[in-house]
Amino acid sequence: MASGGGNYRNVTHRNSLKGTTTTTAAATKPAVKNKSLSMVGGASSGPRKSCPGSLGGGGTSKDDAGVPGRVRVAVRLRPCNAEESVADADFADCVELQPEFKRLKLRKNNWDTDTYEFDEVLTEFASQKRVYEVVAKPVVESVLDGYNGTVMAYGQTGTGKTYTLGRLGEEDTADRGIIVRAMEDILADVSLETDSVSVSYLQLYMESLQDLLDPTNDNISIVEDPKSGDVSLPGATLVEIRDQQSFLELLRLGEAHRYAANTRLNTESSRSHALLMVHVKRSVNDRDLDHSSQNGNTTNMAKTLRPTLVRKAKLVVVDLAGSERIDKSGSEGHTLEEAKSINLSLSALGKCINALAENSAHVPVRDSKLTRLLRDSFGGTARTSLVITIGPSPRHRGETASTIMFGQRAMKVENMLKLKEEFDYKSLARKLDIQLDQLIMEHERKQKAFEDEIERLTMYAQNQISEAEENYANAMEKERLKYQKEYMESIKKLEEKWMMNQQKQGERKEASAAEEVAELKRLHNKEISLRKAAEEEVNNLKSQITQLKKSEASANSEVLKLQKMLEDEAYRKEKLEGEISMLQTQLLRLSFESDETRRRFDLGGPRKVPGSLESLISKARPQVNDLGNEEKASIANLFEQVGLQKILSLIEAEDADVQVHAVKVVANLAAEESNQQKIVEAGGLKSLLALLGSSKDETIHRVAAGAIANLAMNETNQELIMSEGGINLLSMTAANAQDPQTLRMVAGAIANLCGNDKFQNKLRGEGGIKALLGMVKCGHPDVLAQVARGIANFAKCESRASTQGNKTGRSLLIEDGALLWIVQNAINEASPIRRHIELALCHLAQHEVNAKDMITGGALWELVRISRDCSREDIKNLAHRTLTSSPTFLAELRRLRIDY
Ligand code: ADP
Ligand code: MG
Repeated sequence: MASGGGNYRNVTHRNSLKGTTTTTAAATKPAVKNKSLSMVGGASSGPRKSCPGSLGGGGTSKDDAGVPGRVRVAVRLRPCNAEESVADADFADCVELQPEFKRLKLRKNNWDTDTYEFDEVLTEFASQKRVYEVVAKPVVESVLDGYNGTVMAYGQTGTGKTYTLGRLGEEDTADRGIIVRAMEDILADVSLETDSVSVSYLQLYMESLQDLLDPTNDNISIVEDPKSGDVSLPGATLVEIRDQQSFLELLRLGEAHRYAANTRLNTESSRSHALLMVHVKRSVNDRDLDHSSQNGNTTNMAKTLRPTLVRKAKLVVVDLAGSERIDKSGSEGHTLEEAKSINLSLSALGKCINALAENSAHVPVRDSKLTRLLRDSFGGTARTSLVITIGPSPRHRGETASTIMFGQRAMKVENMLKLKEEFDYKSLARKLDIQLDQLIMEHERKQKAFEDEIERLTMYAQNQISEAEENYANAMEKERLKYQKEYMESIKKLEEKWMMNQQKQGERKEASAAEEVAELKRLHNKEISLRKAAEEEVNNLKSQITQLKKSEASANSEVLKLQKMLEDEAYRKEKLEGEISMLQTQLLRLSFESDETRRRFDLGGPRKVPGSLESLISKARPQVNDLGNEEKASIANLFEQVGLQKILSLIEAEDADVQVHAVKVVANLAAEESNQQKIVEAGGLKSLLALLGSSKDETIHRVAAGAIANLAMNETNQELIMSEGGINLLSMTAANAQDPQTLRMVAGAIANLCGNDKFQNKLRGEGGIKALLGMVKCGHPDVLAQVARGIANFAKCESRASTQGNKTGRSLLIEDGALLWIVQNAINEASPIRRHIELALCHLAQHEVNAKDMITGGALWELVRISRDCSREDIKNLAHRTLTSSPTFLAELRRLRIDY
């Protein structure tokens, strides 16, 4: 039951009515749509053999792009008619249908049946619609896809062939037969703008083909294309169908003609075959073609040059003559020959089908007109459906059986579908002709326009030339007249002059020539001298101008310079004003804060902790000199609460302002001996020293150096300062300082260090003495006082070391050239300076090694003066003692005859 189900089998051999195979070019489309296969049962069991018939040697290679397809056969049982109901009432039906198995059982006798399978088994209840769908619709769809298709009805007269195919359904649309429904589907699918549907309607009777659309046309010849094998009827009327209504009218007309013809020929329609041919011509649109174009970039031009691809397909619907054998005796009034001829076509069809079904080598296609007509439909290149109609009556069992056998044989016939596609070269040629004509016309038009343009330009150029020539001639004429006039005038003037000269000559006869010459000479000389004077004047003026220009330039540059200076001054003034106003604000703020502080102290609120460092400074600031005990305690208290560590950390702050303030606080704290140890322990001294090196701000230098000076009074701190490279840092600070107060602080610090016995060599080695001496050039008495103190301290320590035997050799002060300054300032007006120097001189003089240098440096005189005049009794005595105890000094005094 199952093999080959659902589709046309793909076989390599097939039968053909033609007996030969042809190849078609463009059959690329797969056979059919799936939905169209409803009729295909695929049953292969039973009497129907699934193996297709084949013509010997007629095989088709796979390249022969046809699609194989077996002839589909459906069987339709007509319901009992009234007569049969009565007549056959006592007999059982001769057939039994099993539509669910697509089987038909034919009763042989009361106890035996034969079973046949068909592609479709349609009971007496099958609707016309269903019959159309299973029998014809797949063929119609195939035709619309470009394949030829055939639908045939075969059966005994009165079994419903015409009912199945040709009912118009005018009273009840449900009755519409296959032809009407097929046309409806075709018209619904085609586009009447690009496609065409045309129809021929014919009758075949006694081997004569009559045109049912034109009854006068009663012997139409069949033409076969030897190449393609296509069958055509050039003589038949072909009517183009544009709507269903006109088609129905055409059918009615054909039917009327058939009736008239049969009456005229004294025939019955059941003895003739009716053939409806529907030609469908469809153009294949570009989209369908795209797959066939090799490369995608087909230009528009190429598209227009490509002929339209058209698919031509033909649907043939054949309502065959009744299959019952006609009475050989010619009972219907025909001769035997006639009787033979009447059924010739049908029996030839039967023979061909047998041959095809049996795979016979010879298929007698040429035996009849019907087989010739159907050679491309049945067993040819078309898709074919056959509906065999049977009646239920057991009286016609024989005919029914023969009909069934015909159907069974037909099922074995294999068709090869071929797509009927061809290029419409004619219409392309027409199109190209039109295009060519258009191009020729266009070219002619352009040629004409070009020539017109040339003509126009030539005209224009000629006009221009003649205009220019005219203008030129006019101008020449004008010029000529002008010169002529001028010429005449000058001739006239010359004549007048000549006349006048003639007259003058007559008057001056007496004047002597000599006089005239003398006069002329005088005039000439005068002229020369005047010219010279004028030239001189000009030169004079020229030099004056250059002079003026020079002075102007220098004046200008002077002015510019002054302007620049003025601008600088203004800028500086502005800056200073800014600074003044800033200082004023600061002053205001500070005084306000100090007032506040004072008030708080007055109110007895020393416990209040100021919130900011700023207020701490303002509180700490007055402490150096003026704070009372109570205030000092309060500062100490504040310092406790804010935290020394915090203040010291602020020394390293990024903000210069904060840094200055922090250093000030530390300096103020360092002024108090009680705080000093804590500061040093917290690393304050190191931070201060580091600040000298890292900061560029002189205020910071000054304040830090002050604090270091204070801390340098303590011996332990001195050691720390020395080990931290303090001398170096202090020397550097001194070298860069502008402010005498900074120098004072630095000198003070070094002076303190000079008082330590341990550091004599190191201090000197690191340039401490040189640094001190370097500061004297500033001349400020405060600085000088500190320098002097340092030198005195150093001298005292040296003296002590020499006395203790720890030092030999000249004083390092003398080595470093301090003696000159000492001597020069020994009589300094400022008493602190003077005192320190006097002491220093005394210390130096106590050692013989220094005596010689002191004598040459003039120190001896100062010592003598001190020993005599010093207001401080102790120093005076010290000087005296020193002098008298030095043999060198005494010898020198003697040498100088000074009585000492
Ligand atoms: P045929 O063309 O084969 O000679 P017809 O089509 O003329 O047979 O049918 C003969 C009679 O049977 C008609 O009257 C027709 O209406 C009727 N007939 C045929 N088939 C059916 C059917 N399936 N249902 C009802 N009536 C039918
Ligand atoms: Mg009929």
